[in-house]
Amino acid sequence: MGRRARLLHVAWDAVRARAGGADAIASRTDRRLAEMLAHARRTPFYRRHWRGIPESAGLTDLPPVAKVEWVDGFDESVTDPAITREAVWQYMQDRARVGQPWLDRYSVCRSSGVAGKKSLFVADQDAMDVYWALWLTRGWMSWLGLRGAARLGRRGGRVAAVIATNSHYASAAMVRRPSPLGAFANVRSSTLSIHKSASRIARALDYWQPAALVGYPTVLDSLAVEQLAGRLSLDIVLAVSVSEWVEPAARARIESAFGCPLFDSYAASEFLSLGFECPEGWLHVNADWVVLEPVDEEFRPVPPGETSHTALVTNLANRTQPVIRHDLGDRVIVRPDPCPCGSPLPAVHVEGRKYDTLIYRNGDREVTVMALALITLLTSVPGIEPGYQIVQTAEDVLSFRMRFSREADATWAEVVSRVRSHLRARGLPHVSVELSPIPPRRDPRTGKLRKIWSEVPVSVP
Ligand SMILES: [Zn+2]
Repeated sequence: MGRRARLLHVAWDAVRARAGGADAIASRTDRRLAEMLAHARRTPFYRRHWRGIPESAGLTDLPPVAKVEWVDGFDESVTDPAITREAVWQYMQDRARVGQPWLDRYSVCRSSGVAGKKSLFVADQDAMDVYWALWLTRGWMSWLGLRGAARLGRRGGRVAAVIATNSHYASAAMVRRPSPLGAFANVRSSTLSIHKSASRIARALDYWQPAALVGYPTVLDSLAVEQLAGRLSLDIVLAVSVSEWVEPAARARIESAFGCPLFDSYAASEFLSLGFECPEGWLHVNADWVVLEPVDEEFRPVPPGETSHTALVTNLANRTQPVIRHDLGDRVIVRPDPCPCGSPLPAVHVEGRKYDTLIYRNGDREVTVMALALITLLTSVPGIEPGYQIVQTAEDVLSFRMRFSREADATWAEVVSRVRSHLRARGLPHVSVELSPIPPRRDPRTGKLRKIWSEVPVSVP
């Protein structure tokens, strides 16, 4: 089967599975999972990782994979001897190749690893076809509907993605990969780097006049501000958010500025099409191709309706580097009842990443403060230099390591006012907001600029 035929075959199957309801989804999941486990058992990595576990064991009997195990075991986790950690890493140093196929047949991406070493992922052509087919059918086509698709077509079908293109991140691997639909689709999509200045991005968009926008919600939000101020004039049919949590205020601003709906997507390096948002505001997990298990600190299942500590992900599409029960680090909550949108796919909310939260106390209640919530709160404050850091320095102190590009006093007053009102709304009026005398600093070991952390030791009750 040719590439395009296979893509259409997978897309058609995705449509049929969803239309067939929960049973049609479950039968595909079971079949693909059994095949993937049998396949993964042949790789040295899982042979070692699952030693002593009978072959009849189900998914939930298998030990999860921690980031450190993945980083150290890379060369044993792949099924093609041409793929080595060293070779992938060398290839990734060439930033001009972001999103381009490696060895003409693999898609590579990286995510934050451990101890200064990145987690690397290699997906084969078949897996990429599945990601594409899911984006096409359960993302774009379901968001646009027939009328939206017709409007997009009339507007030239141009799609602009504003994302980080300076490294081999998952979003860039997906967006910048040449479209399997061929040259027709390629000339109609354009990628802009978020590392260019906001005014340059706005000028480029104004010139190119895309009919749909894809980007981090914080970036789409700043474009919405430009549009509302009259400095940008785009006629957009659909906005799609990737990679970050969408703050409600940002969503409202984007939708009103562009007069179109914003839909969110859920992806990870482990699986590039985890889920897509429905009109009810829930992300529906593509459960016929990926298994997402919400679990607690001990990796025990968390029932629907409760927020998990993390989630384990199992990829049923990629044979080249099987991903079975990876600790994703996302806190998720599964909708306990059927979603009114009618989708039989499980519906989740992503509450944030377990690594990106601070815990404060209100009496005997723990209150979580999310990095993304604070970041989105401050994106539209002019005068803050990028690269600031958020530190919990005491049980009731939230400290910012921040520099200002102008009007430091007024800018800081605006930061305090916004953060205080957020904390009050979270039931934390007693937490004080301080400007640290220490400037933002990179981690001397990893060279990374950590966004948020706590210096308060975890108290054991
Ligand atoms: Zn729904």
